[in-house]
Amino acid sequence: MKPFKMVSTEYKSEPTRIHIPAPGGNDVIIGEGYCTMIAGPCAVESSEAYLELAVMLQHLGVHILRGGLFKPRTSPYSFKGLGQSGLDIMAEARSITGLPVITEVMDVRDLDVLYDTVDILQVGSRNMQNYSLLEELGQLDKPILLKRGLSATIEEWLLAAEYIVSGGNEQVILCERGIRTFEPYTRNTVDIGAVPLIKQLSHLPIIVDPSHATGKWEMVRPIAKAAIAAGADGLMIEVHQDPDRALSDGKQSLTPENFSRLYEQVIRLAMLEDKEVLKNKG
Ligand code: PEP
Ligand code: MN
Repeated sequence: MKPFKMVSTEYKSEPTRIHIPAPGGNDVIIGEGYCTMIAGPCAVESSEAYLELAVMLQHLGVHILRGGLFKPRTSPYSFKGLGQSGLDIMAEARSITGLPVITEVMDVRDLDVLYDTVDILQVGSRNMQNYSLLEELGQLDKPILLKRGLSATIEEWLLAAEYIVSGGNEQVILCERGIRTFEPYTRNTVDIGAVPLIKQLSHLPIIVDPSHATGKWEMVRPIAKAAIAAGADGLMIEVHQDPDRALSDGKQSLTPENFSRLYEQVIRLAMLEDKEVLKNKG
């Protein structure tokens, strides 16, 4: 058997579909046969901006809202997110739109407070090998989005997922977000091949984040389409009303107009791939 056991297709051949209960009543499904769209700003910056964007995205048909509260920034002098105070803003967006929300957890000490409000907990690239965090998440009854580490091999990534699943939490969604290579023109190098490979090796769902994978907003739409064509079960996209003024990741953020264009094309591609694009009440 492969070194990863419970996440492997050898262990379970039937694809895992994760049900995310939505506060508005429409459960969101992530997995084979679906195309689930997660969108929102890199970071929650203010109540006004986040709520306005959340409603816009809901009307465009987004299924899950993203927003960073605890941001893992390379420089300690960069904006690190609103932390717990931003959680109330996400809670309000969740209740106004009826959509589930996802945010990154960097520290086990924040788990209790995030658990009550957040529908999916994200493990960021930098924490993919934070094994004590993964073990804690394995104890929870909450879906986890596990991003691929900055330089992680497919096997290291699946073994990180194994930490969570073997702890008892089978609700793991993998997220390809590019890996570090010798190429400096893009923030990361997208590993589109990881999508069909993961489908072969694991029953877990896999989505792609073309925003962090490229670092350039102009590349987000083409790579989003490539991801769906390669068989991804969904996308996570950064959107900001005014990318030039974003406090983080403005260069890779789409305006709502550009996001809407991307989404229209993705819906057509998803249909071609026989994927259901869940409808929200909106
Ligand atoms: C994010 O999605 O907010 C993020 C920080 O991404 P990554 O962990 O992939 O760099
Ligand atoms: Mn970001």
